[in-house]
Amino acid sequence: MLRLEDLTVRFGGQAVLDAVDLAVGEGEIVCVLGPSGSGKSTLLRVVAGLQRAEAGRVLLGGRDQDGVPTHRREVGLMFQDHQLFPQRDVAGNVAFGLRMRGAGRAETAARVAELLDLVGLPGAGARPVRELSGGEQQRVALARALAPGPRLLMLDEPLGQLDRSLRERLVVELRTLFRRLGTTVLAVTHDQGEAFALADRVVVMGEGRIAQAGTPLEVWRRPASEFVARFLGFEN
Ligand code: ATP
Ligand code: MG
Repeated sequence: MLRLEDLTVRFGGQAVLDAVDLAVGEGEIVCVLGPSGSGKSTLLRVVAGLQRAEAGRVLLGGRDQDGVPTHRREVGLMFQDHQLFPQRDVAGNVAFGLRMRGAGRAETAARVAELLDLVGLPGAGARPVRELSGGEQQRVALARALAPGPRLLMLDEPLGQLDRSLRERLVVELRTLFRRLGTTVLAVTHDQGEAFALADRVVVMGEGRIAQAGTPLEVWRRPASEFVARFLGFEN
């Protein structure tokens, strides 16, 4: 589904992504974990076409994305700070990508209602987003990212702003939802509990490279290096 080959991004001579190779299978949920500044958001931005890579390739469904603009890549991206449109209501936010793609009024309204049910906000379409709680706003952002039916959904710290108990509850809901929809997901977080609960496979990044990739259990049981062990909080 998604294939990254030899992906390299440099800022001011410093390699933020250093020849990264990664493959995500159809319907797979992959979580990228790593300390702040390790290049997680940069990775998503390159896949979305918001950041140019200096070298390497991004393949989506086998097609090289070089030269393909963001709005033509079949990816949905939910940003670290979810950036809802504050002046629009919930439905206006969710409908954004649909209207952009030329969906009609009736089709859009039906799809928005369906998505709001899906994320657990039935009937909330007319509410102003600034009245919503943090968790409700995250759900709206998720519905907006899901709206155009992307082949690949990318989430950057999807639950970043929330308190621990809400995160724990939502992460389980998200996993159930993605499984039900068969969505392919590439998510980024610095919270290992979140990654382990959400992912089929965890990828630990450090200094622009993949330090380890494996199932949550594999990574937890057998950290591949001292860096991974330390990041997971094991004492040596
Ligand atoms: P966090 O967990 O804090 O969100 P991250 O792993 O997502 O961190 P990135 O946002 O990918 O990290 O940034 C990786 C490094 O690249 C950081 O050192 C950052 O300062 C640098 N960086 C990111 N974008 C740019 C840019 N446009 N210009 C220059 N440096 C950048
Ligand atoms: Mg980031």
